[in-house]
Amino acid sequence: MTNQMKVDRRGVIRGGGAMVAGAMLPWAGAASAAGSGTQLHILGSRAGPSVGSGSYQTSYALTVGDALYVVDCGYGATEQLVRAGLRPQDMRDLFITHHHPDHNIELGTLIYFAWYAGLEKPLGIYGPPPIEAMTKSYLAAIKPDIDIWLDDIGHAPLGPINVTELSKPQDVLDDGTVKVRCTLVNHPPVVPALAYRFDTPGRSIVFSGDTTPMQSLVELARGADVLVHEAIYTKDGVTANLTLNGDARVDSSAAGSAIAGNAQKLLDHVLNSHTKAEDAGRIAAEAGVKTLVLAHTVSLVPGVTDGMWIEAARKHFDGEVIFAHDLMVI
Ligand SMILES: [Zn+2]
Ligand SMILES: [Zn+2]
Repeated sequence: MTNQMKVDRRGVIRGGGAMVAGAMLPWAGAASAAGSGTQLHILGSRAGPSVGSGSYQTSYALTVGDALYVVDCGYGATEQLVRAGLRPQDMRDLFITHHHPDHNIELGTLIYFAWYAGLEKPLGIYGPPPIEAMTKSYLAAIKPDIDIWLDDIGHAPLGPINVTELSKPQDVLDDGTVKVRCTLVNHPPVVPALAYRFDTPGRSIVFSGDTTPMQSLVELARGADVLVHEAIYTKDGVTANLTLNGDARVDSSAAGSAIAGNAQKLLDHVLNSHTKAEDAGRIAAEAGVKTLVLAHTVSLVPGVTDGMWIEAARKHFDGEVIFAHDLMVI
C-alpha cells in the first residue's frame, strides 16, 4: 500500500549560514571512478546501534549533478553529509530501508538540519510503515523549536514533506533525474524490509538494506553498475563468546558502546537475518553487476582485514569488490 501524506509546516529559519564544510575526504578517489555525473557517498558504513567507535552508522548519499538523495540515516548521517561536502538543504528525497535505529535514528535530525540550513523545496520521505506516523511525531517534536527560530530570526517556511509508505515491490519515483524501484527483502523480525534500485542517466546503483540472501535482490540488481550489499564475516563454530564488534575496522576493545541483552540471541540475529560476504558475492555474480560494495559489515571473527572481506566476496564473483569505509566516494 502506498500512502501519501502532506505535512506543511510554517516557519523556518533560513540562512543559518552555508553548511558546506571544507571536509577532508580521506577515501575520495580511493575507490573506482565515479561515472556519468552520479556519485555514491558512503556516509556511514557501520552496522548496529552502538556508538562511539570512530565510524558512523548506515547512511548513503547519491548525487546526480546537483540533485541529492539520501538512503538511510543511522547515527551520524547528518554530520557525515556535511563532512562529505554536501548540503542537507539540497536533499530532495530520503529513503529508509527498514526500521532499525542504525538506519533511521536521524530521521528527525536530518529533517531539522535540512530545514535549518534553508530547505525550501518539498522533501520526499519513503520507507516502510509506520514512516508516516514517525515523521509526524518527529515534526511535532521539533515544532516548538522551529516556531521559536521563526519568530526570532524569520526564515522561509519549511516546504511540504511528502511521505510515502512502501510495503511491496513497486516503482517508487521517477522525477526526471532518477528512477527508483523497491523490492522486499528478508530481515526478521523486521517486516517489511526494503531494498532500493536507483537508475540515473548512465548509472544504476542498488542498496540491499539489511537482509538474508534473497532472489528478489538478484532480480532488482540485474545488470546494475553497483550493488551495495550488507555483509557479515563468520566461520563455522563461531560462538557468542566472541566479541560481536570484533570488526577489523576498529580495535574490538574500542568498538563502541556496550550492547545490552542476551549475547546468544544477538548472535542468532546476526546469523539468521544477514548475509555472509561469500553469499553477497554470489548474489552480485547472479545479478551480473559490475561492482560489489560491502557495507554495513559485521565481523564475528577478530582480525579480519579489508582484503579478507574482499577475498570472501570474490569466491563467487569476478567483478570489482570494494570494502566500504566512511566518506568513501564511489
Ligand atoms: Zn542494520
Ligand atoms: Zn536491520
